Amino acid sequence: MSERTDVTADSLVIYADCAATQPLTPAVRAAMEPYLDLRLGNASSAHASGREASRVIREARQRIADVLGCAPGEIFFTSGGTESDNWAIKGCAFYHRLRGHLAVSAIEHRAVLAACDSMEALGMTQTLIQPGPDGIVTAESVASAMRQDTCLAAVMLANNEIGTVQPIPEISEAVHARGAHLLCDAVQGLGQIPVQPRALGADMLALSGHKIGAPVGIGLLYIREGVPILPLLDGGGQEMGMRAGTENVAAIVGLAAAVEEAARMRGAESRYQMQDLLFEKLLAIPGCVVNGTRAHGKRLPGNVHVSFAGLDSESLVLHLDRMGIRCSAGAACSAGKHAISHVLAAIGCDAARASSGLRFTLSADVTVPQVERIAACTARAVAMLRAVRG
Ligand code: PLP
Repeated sequence: MSERTDVTADSLVIYADCAATQPLTPAVRAAMEPYLDLRLGNASSAHASGREASRVIREARQRIADVLGCAPGEIFFTSGGTESDNWAIKGCAFYHRLRGHLAVSAIEHRAVLAACDSMEALGMTQTLIQPGPDGIVTAESVASAMRQDTCLAAVMLANNEIGTVQPIPEISEAVHARGAHLLCDAVQGLGQIPVQPRALGADMLALSGHKIGAPVGIGLLYIREGVPILPLLDGGGQEMGMRAGTENVAAIVGLAAAVEEAARMRGAESRYQMQDLLFEKLLAIPGCVVNGTRAHGKRLPGNVHVSFAGLDSESLVLHLDRMGIRCSAGAACSAGKHAISHVLAAIGCDAARASSGLRFTLSADVTVPQVERIAACTARAVAMLRAVRG
């Protein structure tokens, strides 16, 4: 059978964009189903239906705390990673009356970088911490960015573009040695590597549901007991008075099921094998270069990120899309903006390389034939684009 170049049948589609979002898992769907109708009341209501909603939330919070190895009172449900990151940064800044200094890794998600920029515009100062060419932010570079007045450092667990895993326990020591607190955005880690805030030494840790098979619009912020922070959303006193808004019970139950599933890290070993295989096959295409370290343990097992200098990321993504391969130019949130990736620029890529990045993020179920097809289609897309360029 000849390979089709324009794919419409779903069975022919290979979804290699798991870092952007993941579909609901069957277990999450089943867990949420009983809570989708109005049998449950508002968790703030005093009557039996309200008390039942409140009990369901309490149970979900406890299950998540058990997986993350923390107290249930340290888990606060939010609308997702963006809100969790914003709350951690702005809540800390508000507590410090918008005075002081933020130390932020240059490869953070836009939710972190933009929130810090907003705080800078309101009077705080910030230092961007540069990673090495391997995509790793060292504890030494964090230590040298710290100042007397640093109140918060933000370093993500795993980068959403190139998948590099940061040495958070060492970074935490450097931050705490200067009396500051550490926000760790762990949105991309859960499900592929262990995520436990206390073991990592994070004072605050952000997670998002839709990256692990829960619905879009639910996430959480872990806040270690005693960390000084003010609410971002004021109102009805939900979430222990820290995050107002009527709770989304079904989504919270779905998040608990997804966190439990993700913590089992299904297929982590086979994902490393598929990652190695895909890297090898892509590197056989002339002009292909790997972005970030390939070392196991320093890169998420599902992440494959390469550049084809001289070509344009968006064109590659669209050509691959027509062949049934769903991948990404980099961060999903900057897709379609034709921007040079701030992550690739930070690791020292020149403009040609930073604007030709291609990210494949593999599911735990990806097979060898699928990896071979991804590589073959990429080779064809590269050849077609080069032919057009002449
Ligand atoms: N942080 C990281 C590292 C991410 O990859 C994302 C999503 O792409 C977010 C934060 C934002 O999460 P959400 O989509 O739940 O707002």
